[in-house]
Amino acid sequence: ETTALEAKYITKYFGKKTALSSLSFSIQKGERVALIGPSGAGKTTLLNTIAGIVEPDEGGWVIAGKPRGSYKSGKEFARKVGVIRQHFDLVPQLAVIHNVLAGRLLEWGVAKSLFSLLFPRDKALAVDSLRRVGLADKLYEETGRLSGGEQQRVALARILVQNPEIVLADEPVASLDPARAEDVLNALSSIVEDENQTLIASLHSVDYARKYFTRIIALKDGDIFFDLPTSRVTDSL
Ligand code: ADP
Ligand code: ADP
Repeated sequence: ETTALEAKYITKYFGKKTALSSLSFSIQKGERVALIGPSGAGKTTLLNTIAGIVEPDEGGWVIAGKPRGSYKSGKEFARKVGVIRQHFDLVPQLAVIHNVLAGRLLEWGVAKSLFSLLFPRDKALAVDSLRRVGLADKLYEETGRLSGGEQQRVALARILVQNPEIVLADEPVASLDPARAEDVLNALSSIVEDENQTLIASLHSVDYARKYFTRIIALKDGDIFFDLPTSRVTDSL
């Protein structure tokens, strides 16, 4: 077992409010960690310190053996860490496959019509990842016409193409009805398990955390309330 991420004394203040109170823990490669806790507990802030959206006031992350700040470019970091956002920032007018390829399309500035000629391998990866999230028959549908759960799976497929070692997801199923939420969590957890990727996701439901994750870290007022393997978290919580 090797360490994927290490939180060291992570502290964040917003004015007088202590959003994160010197949090320290490590996460091993292949763990699927659910961050739970009431609204305002610090879940989003903690995920944002990994993604680099929030700078801690004290302490910081060691990611794949290197301090967060020592990643030299966004690209170098993106190979290690993929972020699935709450509003999954897909372009609704684009075809599903073009959303999955969006990073590459923007990176190279090529017209959609030329992309598959120039980058057949990327296209094949995109098709493969869409197949794995169960959207093989929707490659050329307009993304905005898909259901919320399908759109969330498009966002998953985009992360799969990036193939990062660590996947972060802030409330990945918050806006979905229970059936679609289970669908997305099932796809997400089985994919990261297959690839031995490390997953950290914030969630509202303890039931989902127990069903799809290997470890639960509960936050309360910026502190760790408990940190347990899923098997030791009982119904009574
Ligand atoms: P959670 O994701 O668990 O709901 P957050 O990380 O969003 O919790 O928030 C933790 C605490 O930090 C809350 O008290 C929240 O009001 C505060 N907070 C978060 N972001 C900001 C911000 N940008 N400015 C001021 N306060 C913030
Ligand atoms: P790119 O993804 O780079 O724009 P395309 O996917 O458009 O390239 O082209 C790859 C193949 O998919 C082509 O053979 C094209 O005819 C086919 N294709 C493109 N658009 C559609 C569509 N709306 N429905 C079915 N097949 C399509």
